[in-house]
Amino acid sequence: MNISHIEHIGIAVKSLEHAIPYYENVLGLKCYAIEEVQDQKVKTAFFQVGETKIELLEATDSESPIAKFIEKRGEGVHHIAFCVNSVTKGLEKMEAAGISLIDKKPRKGAEGLNIAFLHPKSTQGVLTELCEKPE
Ligand code: ZN
Repeated sequence: MNISHIEHIGIAVKSLEHAIPYYENVLGLKCYAIEEVQDQKVKTAFFQVGETKIELLEATDSESPIAKFIEKRGEGVHHIAFCVNSVTKGLEKMEAAGISLIDKKPRKGAEGLNIAFLHPKSTQGVLTELCEKPE
């Protein structure tokens, strides 16, 4: 598994409508897509910053992991996603290293990427995502 760059940083927000103007009007970034990921119960807004994206995450349901995160910790950085050449190989390597996995195998995330999450209890409190562009 090779990490090429930080693919995105996920930020939990209460409201995209409220958060987007800060990123657009104050930081001067452009929201290039808004997408709902139904199995995660989130709506995401994307901003490109060099090779990396900012992914704002708004819960679409009170059972969403993002709603629970905000309830416990408030708005803020939710996860960091590394771009890797193979999520499957990455998971094998993480498991062999004793890292707890949230996802045992890759699944589909936003923008059609293959993704998997590592448990923050094994990663110094940072929810970590591995992602790869499908072939
Ligand atoms: Zn993500």
